[in-house]
Order: sequence, then structure tokens, then C-alpha cells
Amino acid sequence: MYEVKPLTKKEVPGISEKTMTIHHGKLYTGYVNKANEILEKLKALRASGKAEGNTTYSELRALKDGETFAINGIYLHENYFDLLGGEGDSTKAPELSAAMTKKWGSVDTIVNWFSTCAMATRGWSILCWDPYIGELRHYNGDAHNQGVWGCIPIIAIDVYEHAYFIDHGSDRKSYLEAFWKNLDWAKAEEIYKKAKEVKL
Ligand code: FE
Repeated sequence: MYEVKPLTKKEVPGISEKTMTIHHGKLYTGYVNKANEILEKLKALRASGKAEGNTTYSELRALKDGETFAINGIYLHENYFDLLGGEGDSTKAPELSAAMTKKWGSVDTIVNWFSTCAMATRGWSILCWDPYIGELRHYNGDAHNQGVWGCIPIIAIDVYEHAYFIDHGSDRKSYLEAFWKNLDWAKAEEIYKKAKEVKL
């Protein structure tokens, strides 16, 4: 069973309490509740021996589709909320900064590219560790269940309108600036250190 992780900070400069409360309390919590519901229903369907394998519509198809959407929704949002509440100081992530600099030339270069890519997705923009090649990579995903299997998110930015429309209207760029100003790089460093131990 999944459990709702509490918010570390209810509001940060540029992202209001109202936005955070709706985002965490309704949307993220909704993914947790739906993931648990789906897992229970899949268990019951498996036990019934009556699951229908139909690719147009079947209860099994709907549950399996919702399963990855809900569970990736949990993992990505937990990364997102965990990393909001810092001071945007990349010196607090020395190893991650060094890896970014080695791959992209400087931290600013990848942060700027990350933000540019975040303007071109409908859902998520994610810096991740790719354990197959042992490198940092950056990916976009229009939905929670779109991405590269096996990659571990280090910094996930939610760019669905619900993340910023109340505070920034359609100005996604100013929301992204607020995101980077509030990024807890020390937490990103912790995730990076754990992730880079994974090699496939
Ligand atoms: Fe979201």
C-alpha cells in the first residue's frame, strides 16, 4: 500500500500555499489513493480467474493503464515536493554539480537547457540517472507513464498547468525561475549519490 508523504514546505517563494495544498492534497493524494485502489482491484481480478485480455476495452486493460499512470504520478510528485524548499544553491550538491559540469560544461548550461526543454513538454521535465550507461540524462514526458524504463529521477519538474497557473497564469517561464530558486540541491545530491550506485 502506498501512503501519502507529508509536504516538507507548504509554500515557497513564487509557489503559493493554495497551489501547493491543491497540488499535494488533491492531485498527488489522488494518485496515492487510486494506486491503492487499482492494486486491490488487480489482485481481486487475478484471484477471480476472469480477467479478460482485450486491447480495445476491458477492466484489465483499464486497470493496467491506470496502474503505471498512478504509480509514476506518485514517484514523480514525491521527488518534486521533496526538492522544493531549498535555496537554489547548487554548491550544496558538489558531486551532482561536478557530474553536470563534466557532461554539459557547467551547471548553468544544463539548468538553462532543462528549463528550455521544460517549455516544450506537457507534463514533466526530468534529470535522471541512467543506470544502463552510467550517466546523467535529461528527458521530457507528456504524461506520468511516459519515460525511459530504469532511469532514476534526480530532479523532476512538474509543468502541468496545475503546478503554476494560480500563481503565474500562463507564464511558465517565471514558474520555472521560482522552481530553480527554491530547489533543495542538498536533497538532489542525496538522491544522485544513491542513484549512481545502481548499474545495470
Ligand atoms: Fe502535478
